[in-house]
Amino acid sequence: MLSDLFSAASAFTMTAPWKDILCNVQLIQYVAPIAVDSALLEGVLMRTKDDPNASDVVNYAPFTLLPSAVPSSLLEQAYSVQQDFNLLVDEVSRNAEFLERTLASTVKVDDFTAQLFKIYKQVLKEGITQSVFLGINRSDYMFDYGAEGTPALKQIEINTIAASFGGLTSRTTAVHRHVLNVLGKSKEASKLLTNNPAKGIATGIAKAWELYGSDRAVVMFLVEEAQRNIFDQRCVENELWMRNIRVIRRRFKDVFEKASLDNDKRLHIDGEEIAVVYYREGYVPKNYNKQNWEARLLLERSRAVKCPDIATQLAGTKKVQQELSRPGTLEKLLPNKPEAVARLRATFTGLYSMEMDEEGDKIIAMAIADPDRFVLKPQREGGGNNLYGEELKQVLEKIKDSPERTSYILMDKIKPLPALNYLLRAHSPLKVSECVSELGIFGVYVRLGQDLVVNKHVGHLLRTKAVEHADGGVAAGVAVLDTPYVI
Ligand code: ADP
Ligand code: MG
Ligand code: MG
Repeated sequence: MLSDLFSAASAFTMTAPWKDILCNVQLIQYVAPIAVDSALLEGVLMRTKDDPNASDVVNYAPFTLLPSAVPSSLLEQAYSVQQDFNLLVDEVSRNAEFLERTLASTVKVDDFTAQLFKIYKQVLKEGITQSVFLGINRSDYMFDYGAEGTPALKQIEINTIAASFGGLTSRTTAVHRHVLNVLGKSKEASKLLTNNPAKGIATGIAKAWELYGSDRAVVMFLVEEAQRNIFDQRCVENELWMRNIRVIRRRFKDVFEKASLDNDKRLHIDGEEIAVVYYREGYVPKNYNKQNWEARLLLERSRAVKCPDIATQLAGTKKVQQELSRPGTLEKLLPNKPEAVARLRATFTGLYSMEMDEEGDKIIAMAIADPDRFVLKPQREGGGNNLYGEELKQVLEKIKDSPERTSYILMDKIKPLPALNYLLRAHSPLKVSECVSELGIFGVYVRLGQDLVVNKHVGHLLRTKAVEHADGGVAAGVAVLDTPYVI
């Protein structure tokens, strides 16, 4: 069975640098527990599903036994376009006319986007008091092998709110380095890139805190009710404490019950003034009830630096992503920046809107005729929401004449080349899987009034999942943490 998989997959393993190791079952069984102990030692941790708010019993976050091959040219390309993406997100977030026009049909049919948009409009009407802006995003890519067989970097999406795993990924490289050393691959181990997005993210938050200009003020991490991924957040949090910046953690519920604005719209909670609100919450409908929406509005009206502010969250919607790919849009948003426009466009794959017009009708007919070529995406985050194949076809057939179709976008399916690896997950049997990887680059920017004072890339995240899962991230229990092995 195992040998079948290896011979059937021999084409895939051509790209895998660990062919000799992957086939050696005894060696794998020996090294897997060493890898797990190393993850625990390095702090690649998650709380358990059963007890998401206690650290009495924790386990390792899922990860690959071995690093995955990433072509160096594509990694470089992903890094070199990150500042362009930062700039683009910032421009979109400041362009009310663009946001309004782009989301006009979506907000009519998607309640969640509509609620966000309502808050956005309300804050605009009242006048924005915030003068320091902080963006922390993660642009995600896959390597598309298309027909020609040469890989191309293609963007999956950009996350402008609560982009996670910058903390745990900062600790994963050491685990893989150790594993390779134990396997006698010290030369390869030394090639693994250093990577510390936790530090870069914290540097951005620290800069925003400093520009806010009040020594006594704190940074508030807005966190979910169930906090399984707390260690990822603590990595960033502790970096701030090291810089003598105090951090508090609160939920929407706490904000609703105890937060207030003073005459200057400074935000206060439990006797503390808040300089920066860093959202690790608030990106999906289930994060909100009526009170939480009120809390969100209060935060958005305040002078505190929101990461992200509501406009920047809207700039990260799938609908905006699709609109950005339309010919001429980038040029309008980034005039006089043809090189940035070219770099950005090179990472786009086909994205299609399904407006209630003839063009939309044609797109839908095309997708129904060939569903395996596409991915159907609603305006949602966090993995597990997209539709593929037969299901995509059925949904499109059902909604094709209804305005509901405008709440989705359609995207070309990216076809990465699978490679073999072992996905280590607590309480799961050790078995080899055919996997594909998704590369994310973290970007950080800070704007003071009209001036972008920070615009950087701060590290990467590689996530890998078995090919049988079409969708879903690490938090969704599908993908696992990985480290790029540059080839
Ligand atoms: P979310 O905001 O929920 O993370 P994504 O756009 O990242 O939404 O989609 C979730 C997952 O679906 C991705 O991590 C990827 O595995 C898969 N996916 C998304 N878009 C594509 C695509 N165009 N081609 C292939 N797989 C895709
Ligand atoms: Mg997302
Ligand atoms: Mg995603």
